[in-house]
Amino acid sequence: MKVTALAGGVGAGKFLRGLARAVPPQDITVVVNTGDDLRVHGLHVSPDLDSVAYWLAGVADRDRGWGRDGETFRTTGELRERFDAAGSWFGLGDLDLATHLFRTSLLASGATLTEATAAVGERLGVRSPLLPMSDDPVTTRIDAVDRDGRAMDLHFQEYWVLRGARDDVKGIRFDGAGSAAPAPGVLDAVARADAVLVCPSNPAVSIGPILAVPGVREAVIARRDRVAGVSPIVGGAPLRGMADRLLPVLGVEVSAAGVARHYADLVGTWVIDEVDAAHADRIRAAGLRVAVTDTIMADDVKAEALARVALSAALGG
Ligand code: GDP
Ligand code: CA
Repeated sequence: MKVTALAGGVGAGKFLRGLARAVPPQDITVVVNTGDDLRVHGLHVSPDLDSVAYWLAGVADRDRGWGRDGETFRTTGELRERFDAAGSWFGLGDLDLATHLFRTSLLASGATLTEATAAVGERLGVRSPLLPMSDDPVTTRIDAVDRDGRAMDLHFQEYWVLRGARDDVKGIRFDGAGSAAPAPGVLDAVARADAVLVCPSNPAVSIGPILAVPGVREAVIARRDRVAGVSPIVGGAPLRGMADRLLPVLGVEVSAAGVARHYADLVGTWVIDEVDAAHADRIRAAGLRVAVTDTIMADDVKAEALARVALSAALGG
């Protein structure tokens, strides 16, 4: 059985570890958001691709959520304290830096991001094919206003990491998306999968950019009966991250039902948490099937149980 998953960072990483226990990992193609990608110290950093790779490889830091287990930050510390280097606000661990050096050097010698991603996955021992959503640059930009009323146009990571999400968000843009092409294999993976899964990732800035790449949304809509998604909103709030600040900008209610309605044209079955069971009728009224289960992925066993529910929901369509 072939499964294709649309993925952001940490929520997706946890979920995919469970999915890889339910389905042979080599049969899971993961299409990953690259809207968060940025240049730091001249290196090409792909936060969501790396989160997914580290989780699937079993080298992610479970408590911090992002980055490598057993990580140290000596290089970033030196860049920050001694060199006051531009970009040192973005903390890159020493092991993590090896990934960025390896990727950047492949890109510099002419590899595409798809090729570099495959090489990183292979070296880390990830058996699932990881695909960037596009080989073309797409950048998530946040139109924000600071406390003094000053308008700012921020890279997503400047909004989230540098400024700690303290600004009012007025709009979200995916620069470059209009002229980007899906990476090789992305549309095929969606078209040919037995099941397409939307991971519990931020709808606005993780799944949104993937769907903004021309052709991807249409490809998913064409498979709607075989698409299931897991709600990243549990009990009216994200478990981590900033979805609660960004969803209202899109006019989306911060609830399991609100996100279901946002995805209504492309998701056939919406998997929600038991605490949100009361939302099921509203979700059905929006035209989606509903599955209710425990969606808190405290460990791989729980993630596997959730993945099995999502999978059978997608296959039942
Ligand atoms: P990133 O890692 O910051 O790029 O963010 P993601 O796109 O992965 O978004 C994080 C989302 O994952 C948040 O909305 C969380 O609520 C969701 N998430 C994290 N852990 C879990 C979990 O155990 N269960 C569910 N249902 N969602 C989760
Ligand atoms: Ca991300």
